[in-house]
Amino acid sequence: MIEDTYRHKGLRNNLVKEIAALGVTDQKVLEALRKVPRHAFLPSAFLQYAYVNKAVNIGAGQTISHPYTVALQSQLLRIEPGMKVLEVGTGSGYQTSILCELGAKVYSIERKRVLLVGANQILADQGYTAKLTFGDGFKGWPAYAPFDRIIITCAAPRLPEELMIQLRPGGRIVVPYGEGSVQEMMTIDETESGEFVSEIHGTFTFVPMLEKRSSIG
Ligand code: SAH
Repeated sequence: MIEDTYRHKGLRNNLVKEIAALGVTDQKVLEALRKVPRHAFLPSAFLQYAYVNKAVNIGAGQTISHPYTVALQSQLLRIEPGMKVLEVGTGSGYQTSILCELGAKVYSIERKRVLLVGANQILADQGYTAKLTFGDGFKGWPAYAPFDRIIITCAAPRLPEELMIQLRPGGRIVVPYGEGSVQEMMTIDETESGEFVSEIHGTFTFVPMLEKRSSIG
């Protein structure tokens, strides 16, 4: 297991202060960010960026999201312990670990095999038990539906119908919506009577959500 030194903890505390100053107020989310050693989720060549508020390469042309983005999406999810949460885009596994810290039962889908294998190892090393699968997030994970919450961590060009079906009434989806270089962070709430209500929470930049899984790079 990777070492988590006082220096790492100090850098993490400063990063969390920065994120709080940017407007994240959910104390449970901030606590989770303070706890998880983000440097464990990065390739060794990029360790110096672990506690800087930016996206970092994790291989296979993908990035681990900005810590602020992870914090905001986590806050928007409004997780309560025991909730079933579907994540689309496991990537490094960092967001997955934050969801675990918030007490969620996490189901996470990744379309790049090499990333899934890496995230699986890191999450196990760090003692997190999330269910991961190699698959296409557009299809969701019907075997474990319905979900209380769904988080998409890549830019969705459209709202995947399968995911709307797999959301529980009363549930919420957090999705960066749109194509091109900028997306709108959208929450979609399903009312108990099955209506969908959406709201926008600022603009962000994500790697695209792509169809079909891929075993190559
Ligand atoms: N949550 C990740 C963010 C990684 S970037 C983290 O904390 O590191 C987004 C990820 O979404 C990439 O790894 C990309 O391969 C994946 N992705 C893109 N389209 C997808 C799809 N249709 N299904 C599943 N994963 C997808």
